[in-house]
Amino acid sequence: MATAHAEMRAIDRACKKEHSWRLPEAELYVTLEPCPMCMGAILNARIKRVWFGAYEQKGRSLTSELANANLFNHTVEVTGGVLEKDCSEVLTSFFQEMRAREKFKKMKQKAKSGTKPPVSPKK
Ligand SMILES: [Zn+2]
Repeated sequence: MATAHAEMRAIDRACKKEHSWRLPEAELYVTLEPCPMCMGAILNARIKRVWFGAYEQKGRSLTSELANANLFNHTVEVTGGVLEKDCSEVLTSFFQEMRAREKFKKMKQKAKSGTKPPVSPKK
């Protein structure tokens, strides 16, 4: 799902727990630089500070522009590059495993239709 990002899920859970849509004392820790959708949610929830590891390499994140745009009369402190190498490795292995699972699923579907037998993805 396009909106099922970790930041969105964490903000939703925190809001439910705090019974509030504002989280002015919250600090959010994420492995990857937040996307523009998540930065919007971070600002809307009035989160105090964001810490992230790896910088977004594929697209433009707009993190610093949005953090300092004073949207909703709120700015958020952002610190990036925390344990950057470790976070990059975690993300790389996560996406490699996800691609292997997708490939296995497709092979299994093909095998069901009678073409090739499935081969388990490497662990
Ligand atoms: Zn996001």
